[in-house]
Amino acid sequence: MLMHAPTDQPVASTPEKPDVDVLVIGGGFAGLCMAIRLRQAGFSFLLLERAAEIGGTWQVNTYPGCACDIPSQLYSFSFELKSDWSRTYPMQREILSYLHACVNKYKISERILLNTEAKEARFEEASRLWRVRTGQGETITARTIISAMGPLSRPTLGKLPAAERFQGKAFHSSEWDHTYDFAGKKVAVIGTGASAIQIVPQLAPRVHSLCVFQRSPPWILPKFDVAHARWLIWMLQTAPVLKPLARSLLYWLQEAMGFALAHPARGNRTTARAARGAADPRRGPASAGRDAGLQHVQPGAGGK
Ligand SMILES: Cc1cc2nc3c(=O)[nH]c(=O)nc-3n(C[C@H](O)[C@H](O)[C@H](O)COP(=O)(O)OP(=O)(O)OC[C@H]3O[C@@H](n4cnc5c(N)ncnc54)[C@H](O)[C@@H]3O)c2cc1C
Repeated sequence: MLMHAPTDQPVASTPEKPDVDVLVIGGGFAGLCMAIRLRQAGFSFLLLERAAEIGGTWQVNTYPGCACDIPSQLYSFSFELKSDWSRTYPMQREILSYLHACVNKYKISERILLNTEAKEARFEEASRLWRVRTGQGETITARTIISAMGPLSRPTLGKLPAAERFQGKAFHSSEWDHTYDFAGKKVAVIGTGASAIQIVPQLAPRVHSLCVFQRSPPWILPKFDVAHARWLIWMLQTAPVLKPLARSLLYWLQEAMGFALAHPARGNRTTARAARGAADPRRGPASAGRDAGLQHVQPGAGGK
């Protein structure tokens, strides 16, 4: 989207009334959170979402094994803690349902314009308003714009030399072709980030051979993912005070892990110990002796 900086036009003496106080762009976690809070605070607002459905990341990504790598009690709005997450690290579908439930509960659906891309935003000094042009050619005026467009919402395939000569099927993980039959195929997965870590174990048993191309090896920690027992869900439902407590506990555990990883002297020992249980013996020499940096640490598929 094009954003134009303020210009030096004179300020109008009679202020123009904008269509809305605030225009939120993007209907993922960030945009929906803003919309809910704006509604609660009594602002007039609209949320533009270019897709046909809300959810952002959790609407677009449906690849096999797509799940959260942050425990569900943490990966949810602090003001809308859920008692009945089905497991520690929920799958994509459950997170998307959670977001839909939030939209319904906080009654923001009538303020969401789906299939509406913000194409250009221009700040007009004279009226002191933003004018946002949509894909449909309409203009919406607002005092404030909040950008929640998500840094990862546009898939990038990358440029591989001679890629155009490749005769097989190729797609990005966020554009998964669920109709494609992988049985008996030779498959290559390019990348070893959070998505690949989830996809590879799902794909491996279904294909003839699977080759993973790895530029920078990540550290893989065990993922302590378990289905939530009925008694746990019952406890969280019966004593709601336990939900923020569980969230705080998980928060501080994650912070402690972050601290250990960020301080190499301790972090290497901690992560190396954890990684020993989960690392793939074929990871190769590239991973040996590397410091475990925060960027490269992923909870693996273990425990699913
Ligand atoms: C596959 C995948 C797995 C992930 N897993 C995790 C995880 O386990 N834990 C974690 O913490 N984070 C994870 N992330 C990061 C995740 O992106 C964030 O946690 C979070 O969901 C981002 O929310 P968001 O609202 O900022 O952006 P998004 O969810 O990307 O939403 C942005 C929305 O803006 C819309 N949009 C963009 N431009 C325009 C425009 N011009 N006009 C209108 N609408 C527009 C997009 O269509 C999209 O719906 C993951 C990301 C990906 C891609």
